[in-house]
Amino acid sequence: MSEVFYANMRCRPHHGMVAKLAELASRVGLSEVVGRRDLVAIKTHFGEAGSTAFVPVMYLRRLVEAVKEAGGKPFVTDAGTLYVGSRSNAVNHLLTAAAHGFTQESLGAPVIIADGLKGHDFEEVEVDGKLLQRVKIASAAVHADALVVVSHLTGHELTGFGCAIKNVGMGLGSRGGKQQMHSDIKPEVNASRCTACGQCIRWCPAGAISLAGKGEERKAAIDHELCIGCGECTVMCFEGAIAARLVTDLGVAQRKIVEYTMGALKGKERKCAFFNFLIRITPACDCWDFSDAPVVEDIGILAGRDIVAVDQASMDLVNEKAGRDLFGEMFPQVKWQDQLAYAEEMGLGSRKYELVPMD
Ligand code: SF4
Ligand code: SF4
Repeated sequence: MSEVFYANMRCRPHHGMVAKLAELASRVGLSEVVGRRDLVAIKTHFGEAGSTAFVPVMYLRRLVEAVKEAGGKPFVTDAGTLYVGSRSNAVNHLLTAAAHGFTQESLGAPVIIADGLKGHDFEEVEVDGKLLQRVKIASAAVHADALVVVSHLTGHELTGFGCAIKNVGMGLGSRGGKQQMHSDIKPEVNASRCTACGQCIRWCPAGAISLAGKGEERKAAIDHELCIGCGECTVMCFEGAIAARLVTDLGVAQRKIVEYTMGALKGKERKCAFFNFLIRITPACDCWDFSDAPVVEDIGILAGRDIVAVDQASMDLVNEKAGRDLFGEMFPQVKWQDQLAYAEEMGLGSRKYELVPMD
């Protein structure tokens, strides 16, 4: 059974939430996770432009200090988004992060976009999952020696809730990886938008795209017999001429996210710590350009070394505080428990935990 440490919201002089976070870092054994001179990725979510509920910079700064105290060299990171927004390339992502207060000066550590300028900086990691053999993980996360994951619990239309598993699996997938999780790809070319630039052909790993037709009618065409559904073309067409359908079975997306989480954590099983922030719990995630009113009172911060246990404990506390299955009622189209059950089945951790409350 895994231990999950829990700091509630009650504070007193000299014992505020940032001080409690430092205690959590100590209780969770950050000094065992981080070795001397380890390059430590602190994975967070900088918030889409317009959102306001993401984990604030002062908490990240304290974790940066904790990693340094343990002898590590931290950097704060996230990977680019699939959708066109304020974080779909590294330049915009860094500008958005800075606008939200996340800079080297404020954090005491560099900010690095984990999958590079346009989301092509990833490593393929073998996971041998039930759905995916390999996953595309942002390279800075793969090459980091240790991983500290800072997650904000919110509701989510795809997974019911999003916290550590979603933050790692979806959040550290490269842009093509995110497409792979979001869609069972059957890409289609919208000929009216296609300029025959050939960009998609360059990036298609299966040689499934060619230009067909003559003159003005010359457009990209996809051979669905060859297509392996990787999603790269949907990302790389800057004309928005290739669209992919969303999955109809949300359980598939949940399981893919879990398999991406396996890839991101592979080889770091003893080099990870998870901090879940149950504050400003909004119905939608921080990828939206707004943050709605919280749906439940602030609960506190949880920390642990078992990603499944920390997420399960987080949801149990949310439901206890709400007095009902809050996100289950809000998102009846998806069973949020499936994510945790599949993660446990795949050996990522245990849904059984011991909650260790702190003073
Ligand atoms: S990248 Fe887009 S615009 Fe260019 S050829 Fe492919 S589908 Fe057409
Ligand atoms: S989804 Fe991947 S394999 Fe299929 S056409 Fe697009 S780039 Fe090629």
